[in-house]
Amino acid sequence: MTIPTHPQTERLDFQAEIKQLLDIVARSLYADNEVFARELVSNASDALEKLRHLQLTEHEVYEQDAPLQINVTTDPTAKTLTIEDSGVGLTRDELIANLGTIAHSGSKAFLEGLHADAAKPDHLIGQFGVGFYSAFMVAKSVTVYTRSWRPNEPGYVWASDGTGSYTIAEADNERRGARIVIELRDDCSDFASDWKIRDVLERHSVFVSFPIYLNGDRINTVEALWLRQKSEITDEQYAEFYRFQGHAYDTPRLRLHFAADAPLSLHTLLFVPETNPEKVGLPHGETGVALYSRRVLIDARPKDLLPNWLRFLRGVVDSEDIPLNLSREATQDRALVAKLKSLLTVRVLRFLDETASRQPQEYEAFYREFAQYIKEGAATDFSQRESLSKLLRYESSSTAPGTLTSFNDYVARMKPGQSEIYYLIGPSRRALESGPYLEGLRAHGFEVLFCFEPVDEYVMSNIINFAEKRIIAADHANVQLPSASTEAPAENEGANPDQPATESMDGLIAWLREMLGERVTEVVVSDRLVDSPVLAISTDRLTSPNVRRMMRAMNRAEGQAAVRVKLEINPRHRVIQRLDGARTTEPETAALIAQQLLDNALLSAGLLDDPAAMVARLNQILTHI
Ligand code: ADP
Ligand code: MG
Repeated sequence: MTIPTHPQTERLDFQAEIKQLLDIVARSLYADNEVFARELVSNASDALEKLRHLQLTEHEVYEQDAPLQINVTTDPTAKTLTIEDSGVGLTRDELIANLGTIAHSGSKAFLEGLHADAAKPDHLIGQFGVGFYSAFMVAKSVTVYTRSWRPNEPGYVWASDGTGSYTIAEADNERRGARIVIELRDDCSDFASDWKIRDVLERHSVFVSFPIYLNGDRINTVEALWLRQKSEITDEQYAEFYRFQGHAYDTPRLRLHFAADAPLSLHTLLFVPETNPEKVGLPHGETGVALYSRRVLIDARPKDLLPNWLRFLRGVVDSEDIPLNLSREATQDRALVAKLKSLLTVRVLRFLDETASRQPQEYEAFYREFAQYIKEGAATDFSQRESLSKLLRYESSSTAPGTLTSFNDYVARMKPGQSEIYYLIGPSRRALESGPYLEGLRAHGFEVLFCFEPVDEYVMSNIINFAEKRIIAADHANVQLPSASTEAPAENEGANPDQPATESMDGLIAWLREMLGERVTEVVVSDRLVDSPVLAISTDRLTSPNVRRMMRAMNRAEGQAAVRVKLEINPRHRVIQRLDGARTTEPETAALIAQQLLDNALLSAGLLDDPAAMVARLNQILTHI
């Protein structure tokens, strides 16, 4: 096909990212290259949705009476496929902005994914779709004839062969909307035959809510899936709808389809995707639940319809109570959306809770993929904190490695005499199990939740309580154990059962205070140590290992200051007992050991800032053998 030339044809370069994208798309051997048809039909449908909304909100629209529909025509002789809609069309600026730059989510995500995994472009095309540009998987050239809905805009023709540039020229006598003519590559010329494209459209475009005609035959029945009875819908139809509506290629792992009459009339169909969209590189904070009113799309990406932590959901909310010309400024409308948001939030939380109890395995699989959102909600959404806390899952000192437990189960297992919920934060289960903080709690049979992510500290300190039990960091100064020091310690290498406990540690404590000086706030006899000689406790929130690490990373003064801790000593431990003797018989070695013990404690606490100094001292101690 010859690209039409007009006296004022302009040639423009694609943005660099688009060139890169086109290059990959054109070379791709992506097996499902038929998805281009779905992408173009979905763009036509989007353009029609926008037009219908403009009409219903009393805008003056060019060709007011043109029927809202999609016409697909094939020409096997010319090897062309044409997809035409009477939607909003594009102005010259819109052609440049929307077809010449990376503006929309799908192709952006594709490129971001590509940076992460350059080896598999085909796989990525399958995962994200590349929108309009997917036409170049099958096209020698693509020509877009268009005229905007705005009454005083001229028509345009945009054309490109998918290499570095495209042309734009004014065009006369264009109808409103867009007509996309694809000149097919020889190896893809099947798409110019009626049977082939009919099969593709029947599979991929059943949910388009405008009539589609193929060479004059109507091929879809227009219906809104979310308004139908659950019993009439198959899993495959749900999945197909999810893909169509969410521009997705996966199969949703969970769905919630419900209707309500009071306090608002609602028809809602929500999905949880298979994979966490932010893990695969979709931009943070993109919402995927569209707002409709009686089947008319009000907003494809409404802000404030759902709390931010539910941004992983996809689907549709249709409420008759929402006005077509919903305005974010109007107080009344804002109140309505707020009400809708709280209804939806409560319903989704109930759904997740029910899933957790009825299908625990499905829930756990969901949680492993989407935990970040539940944590974010639990830490930030005060109004739903209780329900969100119930949905959290952690490993604990009572679970097998890799097995998760809930706060509810934890509370059910609490021992008589235990009044608090304990957690520890660390890089791994092994690190937490070998640290000194667990042993005292363990000796009492108290369970400790294991948290492996820095965000957990924020989550736990924001939840504060669960079932009226305080949630406490096991390495924090506030931990109060029921008089552990009176109990016999377990048999182990370090502890010395023959030796009476705390005969008097007063002398050693005074000596340690002097030796350690500014490095400690106090030195005390521990009631929680069993196997370890010493333990460091952060008394200040700012010296909690994670917060400190963050502060240091941000170069904040609070993180740079030398750490000061409360040091607890285990009077039953041989090292402590021998140190007590050595401080008079071998004062020099004892002094080194005192510093070393403190460093050991800091190391276990994740608070040691200067390992080099410690190694030097350790070597010095080793020479005393
Ligand atoms: P997306 O649909 O995800 O936004 P696409 O690459 O499919 O991305 O399309 C890019 C943009 O081009 C659309 O957002 C829209 O603004 C514009 N566009 C594409 N097809 C049409 C059409 N048939 N009518 C009007 N605008 C269109
Ligand atoms: Mg699109």
